[in-house]
Amino acid sequence: MANSKYAYVRNFELPDPLLPGCFLVCRLDGHAFHRFSDEHGFTKPNDERALELMEHAAKDLMSEYNDIVLAFGESDEFSFLLRKSTHLYNRRHAKILTTVTSYFTSCYVFHWPEYFPGKPLRYPPSFDGRIVQYPDEQAIRDYFAWRQADTHINNLYNTVFWALIQQGGKTTAEAHATLTGTVSSQKNEMLFQRFKINYNETSARFRKGSVVVREVATQDATDANPMPPQPPAVQAETSRPSPKARKGDKTKMAIQVLHCDVIGDEFWKARPHLLA
Ligand code: ATP
Ligand code: ATP
Ligand code: MG
Ligand code: MG
Ligand code: MG
Ligand code: MG
Repeated sequence: MANSKYAYVRNFELPDPLLPGCFLVCRLDGHAFHRFSDEHGFTKPNDERALELMEHAAKDLMSEYNDIVLAFGESDEFSFLLRKSTHLYNRRHAKILTTVTSYFTSCYVFHWPEYFPGKPLRYPPSFDGRIVQYPDEQAIRDYFAWRQADTHINNLYNTVFWALIQQGGKTTAEAHATLTGTVSSQKNEMLFQRFKINYNETSARFRKGSVVVREVATQDATDANPMPPQPPAVQAETSRPSPKARKGDKTKMAIQVLHCDVIGDEFWKARPHLLA
């Protein structure tokens, strides 16, 4: 065989399976987005267009991969939960991570002009990615609680920090110094007393982050959040269609973005399929 002399190199490609029966969380994070956000004139502390673009890319990814049941995003990051029994790409670590990261990145670039009209990309953005395997439901709930708590802590800090600069006329160094050692209640108080900002009345998108789930599409939700026709989802090496999405099933599932609490029980009790 003409090829056989070389074929041994294939043996250096080692299998990289993810553990069976574990939940998989794939977290993507923008590479050097501190600079990227500066160079593209993101509004500080929260550029809503940029967050909506992240949400759009996350929804596209979930349309493509049925086994992603839940996503959570804040700032330049998004976490995706794959159901524990997924057979996607035979649970090959690199195959899943690279296709997910690359598809998300492509969608981000693809949709950029819709969110930043008249502001062409100055250079190609990229995202890093990792997959973490979790053995049980509690760890998954704690993982999403951890990300949402992070969203809150960062957003509260950033909201006061930028108020001190934009409305208070402070330099960044002065704003940092003012906030050093303060606790949440002091930051809330400072926002209210000095800047008349009631933190709890600021946008839930900023305070809670973005939760993306498949929900039964009610008439209202469909109207408020129309879904364009989607290309066929990736079924490669997956064994069964996602529940409620079988052929002939009248129930319409739509991918929805929510800005709700995932720390308490309510979210999870209403959606037991997420941890099934
Ligand atoms: P790394 O490559 O290590 O992730 P990074 O510069 O991306 O470096 P992060 O910790 O991921 O660092 O922080 C992302 C930064 O991008 C934020 O601190 C913020 O400055 C900016 N950023 C991201 N999204 C937004 C947004 N929607 N609005 C305003 N700024 C944003
Ligand atoms: P996988 O996702 O497993 O990689 P694949 O369809 O990409 O599946 P490959 O073995 O990577 O399979 O093969 C890529 C295929 O893409 C080729 O077989 C060919 O049909 C097509 N292709 C790629 N590049 C070109 C090109 N420059 N001109 C014509 N066809 C191309
Ligand atoms: Mg990082
Ligand atoms: Mg980053
Ligand atoms: Mg980040
Ligand atoms: Mg290929």
